[in-house]
Amino acid sequence: MRLLIVEDEVELANQLGSALKDAGYAVDIAHDGEEGHFLGETEDYDAVILDLGLPKLDGVSVLEKWRAQGRVMPVLILTARDRWTDKVAGIDAGADDYVAKPFHTEEVLARLRALLRRSTGHASSELTCGPVHLDGRAARVTVDGTAIKLTALEFRLLSYLMHHQGEVISRTQLTEHLYDQDFDRDSNTIEVFVGRVRKKLGTEIIQTVRGLGYRIAEPAP
Ligand code: CA
Repeated sequence: MRLLIVEDEVELANQLGSALKDAGYAVDIAHDGEEGHFLGETEDYDAVILDLGLPKLDGVSVLEKWRAQGRVMPVLILTARDRWTDKVAGIDAGADDYVAKPFHTEEVLARLRALLRRSTGHASSELTCGPVHLDGRAARVTVDGTAIKLTALEFRLLSYLMHHQGEVISRTQLTEHLYDQDFDRDSNTIEVFVGRVRKKLGTEIIQTVRGLGYRIAEPAP
């Protein structure tokens, strides 16, 4: 899962960014509304954290522009406490949820997990496919109850595929959602990562769909 943070308070943005990276997400950060809008328009994010008070272009305008352009990613807005009019303006502009400042990082993480679950049609942060169980909250994977050690990137890959069970996901799409902007992207390395995850899981839940990409089959009913 790949996230965008648009926040002009550099220290706050960096703190939040590292907490989200620790939680297993790929993260890009923008420090003003124009840059944030550009990234959200041109890159594929699974969710965005958007401060409303931003230089160059305010958060509500950024959001209105995205929605007018048909960008549908879930957006969590950061608002000043006691400014209920901001919350209303943000939600009217197309925000999916809000957190008032100052906030606890844990609350942002929990709300993000909920947004990501809803946007991919899952009711729980725990996903299961055959013997494989993924706990999004603890960033933990087990196979038949035994914990498997995955790197951050491997976890992201498995998590993305499991959130999109039954869908064929192309290598390009995986590349878009696994790496942050600064990463030297190469869709060929995806194949290597898939190979490693398969080996670690020791089970064939990740199918290769020739010429199209990868798919995790939906578990039998
Ligand atoms: Ca601000």
